[in-house]
Amino acid sequence: MASSTIASPSTSFITKQKDLSRSAFSSSTSPLSIPRCRKSVPKRIVSVMAPQQAERSPAATGSVKTALTMTEKILARASEKSQLSPGENAWVNVDILMTHDVCGPGSIGIFKREFGEDAKVWDREKVVIIPDHYIFTTDERANRNVDILRDFCMEQNIKYFYDIKDLGNFKANPDYKGVCHVALAQEGHCRPGEVLLGTDSHTCTAGAFGQFATGIGNTDAGFVLGTGKILLKVPPTLRFVMDGEMPDYLLAKDLILQIIGEISVAGATYKSMEFVGTTVESLNMEERMTLCNMVVEAGGKNGVVPADSTTFKYLEDKTSVSYEPVYSDQQARFLKEYRFDISKLEPLVAKPHSPDNRALARECKDVKIDRVYIGSCTGGKTEDFMAAAKVFLSSGKKVKVPTFLVPATQKVWMDLYSLPVPGSGGKTCSQIFEEAGCDTPASPSCGACLGGPKDTYARMNEAMVCVSTTNRNFPGRMGHKEGQIYLASPYTAAASAVTGFVTDPREFLQ
Ligand code: SF4
Repeated sequence: MASSTIASPSTSFITKQKDLSRSAFSSSTSPLSIPRCRKSVPKRIVSVMAPQQAERSPAATGSVKTALTMTEKILARASEKSQLSPGENAWVNVDILMTHDVCGPGSIGIFKREFGEDAKVWDREKVVIIPDHYIFTTDERANRNVDILRDFCMEQNIKYFYDIKDLGNFKANPDYKGVCHVALAQEGHCRPGEVLLGTDSHTCTAGAFGQFATGIGNTDAGFVLGTGKILLKVPPTLRFVMDGEMPDYLLAKDLILQIIGEISVAGATYKSMEFVGTTVESLNMEERMTLCNMVVEAGGKNGVVPADSTTFKYLEDKTSVSYEPVYSDQQARFLKEYRFDISKLEPLVAKPHSPDNRALARECKDVKIDRVYIGSCTGGKTEDFMAAAKVFLSSGKKVKVPTFLVPATQKVWMDLYSLPVPGSGGKTCSQIFEEAGCDTPASPSCGACLGGPKDTYARMNEAMVCVSTTNRNFPGRMGHKEGQIYLASPYTAAASAVTGFVTDPREFLQ
């Protein structure tokens, strides 16, 4: 049974789902008695996905303490309450508010309109401002947005402003970081148990650190700038238990594409997605960030991974701020639980034009491509480039299509030129990319992930087919509205670059 469960997700998987859900939960005494991740793994994890159908029952009331999920617990603490239930509204104290060059000017405008021209932000050390979206462009309106951020940061004496002035040479700007979600982690702003808000839908990335992190609009951000508070409705939690040894041809991108393909782009609407299990525990921080980055593509309010020794180790040299992690109670109640045996998963892509349009990479082997893009908050981190380099190295071949590399941050860019790729005899990513015929790594930013102004590096200005490590493949997302984007892991993207077709990375990794 186990060996047959990873057939095409669009065909036989569906027909097996009923059987799988019966067997996977046959030993469970109560659908609401969910074991914690560190407890022993159930003996029969046979499905790639087995949904638990039980809906959450009303929480206990009165003096009985109700067990809480991680997300409920973080929000309860941040709102100074001992209890909170899904659906309740709570005034939450915000630990960090992040904004960038696209939404910052609007948020600042609302803050000034509502609180007054001379108003001060609630805490100059809790506002983080990161220019990252439309940076390396001659577009005057885009450049003006960064100027507005700079003026505001000077006026407010904002402590964490990662400025860029010299657009001709990003290295001349030591403060400049790059993509906000990766910079937030690298600069120590992501801390377990805290509340981080950002004017960007992929702020959920920071849930990888066991914090509540979500995107908000400019109006809410204007209010937070003035008060440090936000009114939030507590989301119910979906729990995703991923167990099994992760095959060495998979990356976290495959895991999240599998989940979104399973539950659809609306499957987690205004819900928290909690990721646990032995596979999740084995992921490094950057891979956990990839997992949480895309919860919003399923409509999720936030994603969370319980903080553990991997988290604490990552944070060691990044922050001196004390933090207090929280964890779901043993009896916490989840809206649904999904179980996956990751050892059975195959490399995936999301075909145009939706992140839930899941297919096996090998099913798309006849799709001819025009280019490959490796970058963004999802797939432009150091580990993502290391993974791509591994494929180029083991293939020993040159790329057949233009292959664009956009490091998320300045630190990632430096890593590409300094860190040796394991198993390469000391070569760096940049050396391997050059030997493979890729474009030279570009200046760190969001690049063409969001299309951007016409002169944005690697923007799809024509109708092309692109394999991309980014997170969205909507029409027009990377530029041309007739462009076709196949979302994939860095392994799959690199393998596709080498063949000129969508390619299962096992062709080169086994
Ligand atoms: S890299 Fe793409 S998804 Fe990430 S913040 Fe930038 S534009 Fe948004």
